[in-house]
Amino acid sequence: MVAEIISVGTELLLGNTVNTNAAYLAEQCARLGICVYYQSVVGDNEERLAATIRLALGRSDVVFLGGGLGPTEDDLTKETAAKLFGHALVEDEHTRKRIAAYFERIGREATENNWKQALVPEQAIILDNENGSAPGLIMEEGEKTLILLPGPPMEMIPMFQGGVFPYLSDKVGEAIVSKVLKICQVGESRVEQELKDLIHGCENPTIATYAKTGEVTVRVTARAKTESEAKKLIKPYVRQIKFRFGRNIYTTDEQVELEDAVAALLKQQNLTFTTVESCTGGLLAGRLVNVPGISGVFKQGYVTYSNKAKRRLVGVKKDTLTANGAVSEKTAREMAKGAALRAGCDMAVAVTGIAGPDGGTPEKPVGLVYIACSLRGKVTVRKCQFFGSRRKIRESAVSAALALMRDCILENFEL
Ligand code: ATP
Ligand code: MG
Repeated sequence: MVAEIISVGTELLLGNTVNTNAAYLAEQCARLGICVYYQSVVGDNEERLAATIRLALGRSDVVFLGGGLGPTEDDLTKETAAKLFGHALVEDEHTRKRIAAYFERIGREATENNWKQALVPEQAIILDNENGSAPGLIMEEGEKTLILLPGPPMEMIPMFQGGVFPYLSDKVGEAIVSKVLKICQVGESRVEQELKDLIHGCENPTIATYAKTGEVTVRVTARAKTESEAKKLIKPYVRQIKFRFGRNIYTTDEQVELEDAVAALLKQQNLTFTTVESCTGGLLAGRLVNVPGISGVFKQGYVTYSNKAKRRLVGVKKDTLTANGAVSEKTAREMAKGAALRAGCDMAVAVTGIAGPDGGTPEKPVGLVYIACSLRGKVTVRKCQFFGSRRKIRESAVSAALALMRDCILENFEL
């Protein structure tokens, strides 16, 4: 099966909005084993949109149309698609009710043109929008299928997962099962290297890696006649990857982020913690506060940017700073120890480094970061060298600090 992606919107053409939806859809098609040979972007113009859809239908079985489902004048995807298939637009009672309920929920009055969104092409399959007002639509004509999705990613992605993925996997006629393994503290090239034999030697399941700062996700996807067969295909590969990366795999749950995994361990062991940050300036505390319910273990954090603050707030010794500098193993160690003591916590994590772009020296280059973790008096310090922009270095430091927290807990409690 061949699919094609058309993204609709002048803002995409002008570069005001990055076309993340097309990347998402392409990736999902790959997961489904559907080939994508073409992608295009077209502005909010009926004639050019119609021509683009016609071209796509001539060479692909399934055509995604993203964006332009909204209530405004320039939203004309649905109208154009219906005209091409010769399907009339009719009001859908179910959708009208959902739109009314949506506006009630967000406490706003629907305007006249919002009701335009209740008009749907005859025979279309309607995909409810849980996060907005415009429904998605699947239109079939002969062998061809048009799938219309809203533009905002937070509306489009849940709709895809809930309605389109099952529809397509049914169409493909195979069950598709995938499993992710999230790995921290190993770079993407090393992950790929370690999995080279598995990645290359195998078409079903497929193994793909995706990197983000400080971590790598490995996805194993299998296709088979039934779900249980697909699961069976995946199993030995998942086991093998677990064997190769061991404790560096922090979760196999797609929804879990590194901070969630760390927070779960802290809660499980009933450990209170504090953060003391120099170059990350609160970013580490911020990531941990992403986790709902963190208040059970997190009471306070320190941002000690200047030397004075390091001394005053967490009691780093003047001599330590003079002899070793703020970016040093010793300073990191004293920051962690002092913070744990002053906040009265079981654990304290300290970060001190040179985020750049200035301030580096040959001995202490930009990207040098010391991270210390004190757990019930026992301090572990890691020296890290990161690369890239100031932002990248700070984000890398946060990931490394989370990974160190995790390691200290796992080691200490022999988990
Ligand atoms: P709305 O009801 O919000 O008008 P819509 O379905 O008409 O939704 P658009 O008007 O095309 O969609 O886009 C709405 C917003 O969604 C855009 O401003 C943009 O922020 C985002 N968006 C649209 N298309 C894409 C895309 N391909 N990738 C990422 N974001 C997108
Ligand atoms: Mg719109």
